[in-house]
Amino acid sequence: MASGRNPKLVAGNWKMNGDRSFLDMVAELRVGAAGGIADTDLLICPPATLLADVAKAVEGSSISAGGQDCHAKESGAFTGDVSAEMLADCGATHVIVGHSERRQYHAEDDTVVAAKMRAAHRAGLVAIACVGETKDEREGGKALDVVRKQVEALLDESVTGANSCIAYEPVWAIGTGLTPTVEDVAEMHTAIRETVAAKIGAEEAARVRLLYGGSVKPSNARELMAVADVDGALVGGASLVAADFLAIARACRA
Ligand code: PEP
Repeated sequence: MASGRNPKLVAGNWKMNGDRSFLDMVAELRVGAAGGIADTDLLICPPATLLADVAKAVEGSSISAGGQDCHAKESGAFTGDVSAEMLADCGATHVIVGHSERRQYHAEDDTVVAAKMRAAHRAGLVAIACVGETKDEREGGKALDVVRKQVEALLDESVTGANSCIAYEPVWAIGTGLTPTVEDVAEMHTAIRETVAAKIGAEEAARVRLLYGGSVKPSNARELMAVADVDGALVGGASLVAADFLAIARACRA
């Protein structure tokens, strides 16, 4: 681990999957994590309906629980929404904001995502803010510019290594089995680190965990997690299988 860097974080995004039977899988993860996953933190982000149960099931272990989204406001007439404070009250320590599925299906733009990130901080949660280019943007040579702009929109002086992670998730890699080359991941993560450093200073920026997400699985995790400036993974599909999620976490070992 480079000096000043945090342990790697492997976060599972269950998306709209799971019922209470999934608590058996959490118990399995607990046993697997207790077997020793040195220097890697684990996080499970279940649907809001399961958050309190998952948070309780991981109590006293090295696994944390997080939300998949939050509203920017603390409370009010926003039917169906959940605030960052409500997630914290359920035992969450983290919340994902700006996932590409939120951006795509709920028309969330950079301004909305930045407001959700501030809400997470207000509630004492670590925000995992997602950025990433589309296939057209990658093929048009615009990936770096697009992602830099998304990251800049998220940043202000309140962002620290303790309260924020940034997840680089190329939209075209999510749930498709496709991944960028390790060279492309390295280039993007370096660009994100530099963008964060320009705003909050190099020392603090080194502590902001930069996660890679998009079709991470046991077979590709080791090479992706070995890339400089990759501080962990945001995992969708493979987080629904305990053995795969644990294998990804173990692949973080240098
Ligand atoms: C995600 O949705 O954040 C994700 C990375 O999904 P998958 O691992 O299934 O590509």
